[in-house]
Amino acid sequence: MIGEAFDSVTTRAEGMARALTDRFAGNTIRLGVTGLSRAGKTVFITSLVANLLNPGRMGGLRAAADGAIRATYLQPQPDDTLPRFDYETHLDAMTGADPRWPESTRAISELRLSLKVQPNGILSGFRGPRTLHLDIVDYPGEWLLDLGLLEKSFAEWSEGALTRAAQRRAGAAYTDALAAIDPAAPFADPEAQRLAGLWTAYLAQAKEEGYSDCSPGRFLLPGEMAGSPALTFAPLPPGDAPRKSLAQEFERRFEAYKREVVKPFFRAHFAKLDRQVVLVDALGAIHAGPQAVDDLRVAMTDILQAFRPGRNAFLTEIFRGKRVEKILFAATKADHIHHTQHGRLTRIMEALTDDARRRADYAGARTASMALASLRATTEDTVRHEGTELDVVRGRLPGDKRAAFWPGDLPEDPQALLSEGRRGAEAWLDGDYGAMTFLPQGGTLKTGEGPPHIRLDRAAEFLIGDRL
Ligand code: GDP
Repeated sequence: MIGEAFDSVTTRAEGMARALTDRFAGNTIRLGVTGLSRAGKTVFITSLVANLLNPGRMGGLRAAADGAIRATYLQPQPDDTLPRFDYETHLDAMTGADPRWPESTRAISELRLSLKVQPNGILSGFRGPRTLHLDIVDYPGEWLLDLGLLEKSFAEWSEGALTRAAQRRAGAAYTDALAAIDPAAPFADPEAQRLAGLWTAYLAQAKEEGYSDCSPGRFLLPGEMAGSPALTFAPLPPGDAPRKSLAQEFERRFEAYKREVVKPFFRAHFAKLDRQVVLVDALGAIHAGPQAVDDLRVAMTDILQAFRPGRNAFLTEIFRGKRVEKILFAATKADHIHHTQHGRLTRIMEALTDDARRRADYAGARTASMALASLRATTEDTVRHEGTELDVVRGRLPGDKRAAFWPGDLPEDPQALLSEGRRGAEAWLDGDYGAMTFLPQGGTLKTGEGPPHIRLDRAAEFLIGDRL
């Protein structure tokens, strides 16, 4: 027994020593992959890893194109307490006999991919082969939105949350329930659970309606904390909070949520990231309409606060001078639109993150925006329709039908979507976008190649190319 315990201590000590050596030797990159739920994180990581393991379609990644990457392999990850990203199951879903989309991200997970690199050309004589470990950390963007809660009191958060709920159809049930209760009445658990349940149902419904800002972030993705007091509260209107009242207990739980849920995530995981990709389903929001776009813009601004450590005392403390070196903002699912519209989507992405990008640049991080498809499910075509030429995309639908769709247009000038006053004047992506329920295509994998994609190689070049 003692021997076993000793072994596990030495293994852990060795693991930690290895992790430290890797970091100091500069041969590890911790890449955070985030985005609001359904933004495309799971598909992105699965396809990125499959394409790095089989780099035939990675021409835009210089080290893959010139053969400097000699071998790529998966390894046990260095963090013993994080779940492993279920790469094999997700890849099988996307590329197996019955191709479909994988299960989405529900919580944090990690995967280590190691790349053996030997530079070509004149450098090859000086530098021997080396190994770069890429630790990919997948986590919900909703958790980043919680950063905004740290600076708010329960009353401040309640005010904002209730104002938003009152403006949304989905908020009616919770608003009605509030009208029938007295927050100053003695606390009772069933009542707390009922209100938290109604608030969670509202958040889920708001998400369905295309809204992005749905706090607290863990309510929709609670993981193992489901049902715990720190996740069983809801916003309340201003008023008295006598001892042992519902209002007092909800305020206490809100503080516990910040202390026990939000801060540990930022400290243990977020502060250790070297590089970051923020995925955004901009097309989905544009199709859902001007309110959803506006909401996405606000959510992006809030998410990006997390990348500005200087402005936030808590972040400054946990980063201790370290910083995220590179941030990529990527609009996903670009295979829904013809390539002639990709430039417009990139410009929308740039405009959405403009303010935050300028500040992140200022803080020293390099940033870029692009439009990509992690798994390309369509092919392009041009068809004649009522006398005009239409750029369409063609793909496989549920029931194994194939169809071509015209999604509608994106605006040439992103301000048509984003600037006050012009917002909502016109509808965008008002063609067939809503009917484009494409599934991954079958039979696309060839030896030495990962799944088909759009610009995933360029994303990899930006994120890790300088270290290969
Ligand atoms: P997550 O919640 O961020 O992990 O999102 P997922 O990676 O599970 O993606 C959510 C959904 O978006 C998928 O089920 C697909 O329907 C769609 N999706 C994601 N990436 C792509 C892509 O590259 N092309 C297309 N056509 N759809 C995608």
